[in-house]
Amino acid sequence: MNEVNITILGGGREVGRAAILVSNSEKKILLDYGVIFEEDKPLFPLHVRPKELSAVFLSHAHLDHSGAVPLLYINAKIPLFTTELTAELSELLIRDFLKISGYYVPFEHNELSQMLSNLNCIRYGEDLQLDDDYVVSVRDAGHIPGSSYFIIDVNGLRILYTGDINPSDTVLLKGADLGKIGDIDVLISESTYISYEHPEREYCEKTLIEILEEVLEKGGKVLIPAFSVGRSQEILLVLEKYDIEYPIFIDGMARGVIEILVRHPECLRDYRLLERALEKTLIVKDWSDRKKALDMPSIIIAPAGMLKGGPSLYYAKKIAKDPKSAIIMVSFQAPYTPGRHLLETGLLPEISGKVKARIEWLDFSSHAGRRQLLETIRKISPRKSCIFVHGDYRAVKEALPELEQEYDFEILVPRNGETISVKP
Ligand SMILES: [Zn+2]
Ligand SMILES: [Zn+2]
Repeated sequence: MNEVNITILGGGREVGRAAILVSNSEKKILLDYGVIFEEDKPLFPLHVRPKELSAVFLSHAHLDHSGAVPLLYINAKIPLFTTELTAELSELLIRDFLKISGYYVPFEHNELSQMLSNLNCIRYGEDLQLDDDYVVSVRDAGHIPGSSYFIIDVNGLRILYTGDINPSDTVLLKGADLGKIGDIDVLISESTYISYEHPEREYCEKTLIEILEEVLEKGGKVLIPAFSVGRSQEILLVLEKYDIEYPIFIDGMARGVIEILVRHPECLRDYRLLERALEKTLIVKDWSDRKKALDMPSIIIAPAGMLKGGPSLYYAKKIAKDPKSAIIMVSFQAPYTPGRHLLETGLLPEISGKVKARIEWLDFSSHAGRRQLLETIRKISPRKSCIFVHGDYRAVKEALPELEQEYDFEILVPRNGETISVKP
């Protein structure tokens, strides 16, 4: 049988713009087509001819996986396979992306509509037969609501693409479904935290609760800037799990995400916890609600998670000079974002002098940390090779000597544009 080519169109030695082309002599399928932000400007993956694609598989809604997919629909009609929840969340995020970065984006709402009109919804556990060539199995990746990883059977080879993966349970989601994977020849793995160990989740939850209680008892307000998809809801559920009785406000796009999640209760680990949390949560509707949130000791969950705008930046500026209040970051803070700047310097844009509110950072990551990633790779143990993508090259290089000593299979860290040929 003929060889299979795996071409890295994006996400090679970088965290972002995931895009992987899998092709045999007959057909090409694309796994993800995302963007990466350099400062505020989105960068796109390498070009692929949309008309040559037989299918696009989207692992999850984050823009670094979904943000460039509409580009493929300018003149082509390619079947798009993803979960219904990922499709709905992607629509929300891509619309927002067009609103904020539209000037730099080479497609418009029309292409997003075209993308959605070519949607084929897939479910966890499903094995999809694409003509005679490919069978693609869909599994829960445990990363954000609706996220999947894929196993591709082609030309007698089995290729597993993790997308972004989290094998551990969180309050919001069950960890990735890693049962009964069978033999894998090639593993294409994310490597975001391959050299970084997350603290225990329970430690983060308890620390968050301790800080909240200290601040709120003194009459302060707590702002939790959080990503709209996943992290905002995770924090909301942590507050419910620990039975926090102070008023909780949720603002920005996180509200729209909740509306979507309520329609997909089966995707959450414990939907009743969300129901109970929502009974107590005040969903911010207008400016008078925002004023109310700032008028009392309260917990405010709001995107953007890195304070790059949105309601979180508004609230941050309002409480910046209040030493009784706190801003607790719960997401990775990318370089050049106001959130990172605040953590490193204690300064916020448009606010003169140091921020007086208490500043904290807690690691509520939705990616596998080093140990979990290595355990996952060990469990899969590909027969031929492991291809690392979606990782900073320095971090992957740091982990390589240990990995090469431990594993028999070949380890590859390709650049964008590289093709790896695999023989059956
Ligand atoms: Zn992601
Ligand atoms: Zn990602």
